Amino acid sequence: MNNEQLREKLLYAPKNGYDRLTEQERQEMNDYCKNYMAFMDAAKTEREAVQFSMRAAEAAGFRSLDSFQELKPGDRVYYNNRNKSILFAVIGEKLLSEGANIVASHIDSPRLDVKPNPLYEDSGIAYFKTHYYGGIKKYQWTTIPLAIHGVVYKKNGEVVTVTIGEEETDPVVYISDLLIHLSGDQMKKTLAEGIAGEQLNVILGTEPIADEEGADRVKLAVMCLLNEKYGLIEEDFLSAELTIVPAGKSREVGLDRSLLGAYGHDDRVCAYASFASLLELGAPKHTAVCVLADKEEIGSVGISGMQSRCFELFMERLCQMQGVNRRACFANSFCLSCDVCNAFDPNFAETCDKRNNGQLNFGVAITKYTGSRGKGGASDASAEVMGHIRSVLDAKGVVWQTATLGKVDQGGGGTVAAYMANRNIPTVDAGVPVLSMHAPLELVSKLDCYMTMRASKAVYESEI
Ligand code: MN
Ligand code: MN
Repeated sequence: MNNEQLREKLLYAPKNGYDRLTEQERQEMNDYCKNYMAFMDAAKTEREAVQFSMRAAEAAGFRSLDSFQELKPGDRVYYNNRNKSILFAVIGEKLLSEGANIVASHIDSPRLDVKPNPLYEDSGIAYFKTHYYGGIKKYQWTTIPLAIHGVVYKKNGEVVTVTIGEEETDPVVYISDLLIHLSGDQMKKTLAEGIAGEQLNVILGTEPIADEEGADRVKLAVMCLLNEKYGLIEEDFLSAELTIVPAGKSREVGLDRSLLGAYGHDDRVCAYASFASLLELGAPKHTAVCVLADKEEIGSVGISGMQSRCFELFMERLCQMQGVNRRACFANSFCLSCDVCNAFDPNFAETCDKRNNGQLNFGVAITKYTGSRGKGGASDASAEVMGHIRSVLDAKGVVWQTATLGKVDQGGGGTVAAYMANRNIPTVDAGVPVLSMHAPLELVSKLDCYMTMRASKAVYESEI
């Protein structure tokens, strides 16, 4: 054996996915990414993602859990958890006591939530007060076009859906920053302090209501517009869930169109991958479960987060219909916690260990552990679990790589993995590497999006 053969045989050398992509795969990748972009344009909040996926699932033969008395292989089930999270299952040939293949991702993204009493006027400008949701660099949310998405529950029980800023003819809203000419003091502050949370006030209008001398004429004029269009009064904000997100559609990025720019790839890029691949299943060997969770960005808490018992209830009901034990089901299951990781950014090379970082175009990234400062808070996948996912992905020719979240002691983060593992379900993180994660416009590579969809499908179709 010469040295080249030795190298080939003994050394691990991840390859750029484009060097392995067949023409047919390239076609599939482009088709898949077109559909993904349509999803991103339609679903900017968890509510919109639930609606989109529920409608697509119903069109593909899924029915609500309540309508089932018994389950047979190939049955397609969903459970809408209060319009904020949603669970899907395709029933497998084996009983659930032999385990399910679960792919869990999240459909909430960092954004600005409108406060309960938000509307005010200052110096002839009407504003919404906001409270940011999830981890953001606050300065990034100034001076960009923003949209309002959400729902309002009126006192009479009527629900109003609000979307402003997405149609070409819609106005957008905006958060101002200080002009550079007067920024002497601001420029000396840290990036964390340059824009404060209470400065993230959204400009709604400036034209005062006519023929009136009273106070807050601009605020009143804005309230009139909201009343005309949506029938709202100011008190209705108390029972509203309005969010401020970047306005506009997803875009192809790069002269070669190899990248996708969009708001909220984290984690709808993995949510869409796990959902789209589920729709293509016939009757898998093991039941395939797709979880689209809410509240990951603030700790997976609350009734729609991954820590909610709602997941147990859903699985319990499926197990009951098969007359099997839910605990046995969990113990024998496998979970891919499908969430994004950071893509290596040469502009910030010093923050990463390049040997162990996810890279654009190297495929779906398997992350053994996340956490911070000595793996704190991580669900550290075992060698056995890593071995399982390696063979599952290789068997289906999925392009994959490994990733860690930055260099040791640089920072850290988490996913839903720990909450699945806490349920006695072997779990590992995997997902799409992202540039500028949590920024208003995030970047991913088409190849990695496509391979993450392929990875989800490989998991759903695998033996456990
Ligand atoms: Mn995420
Ligand atoms: Mn995130």
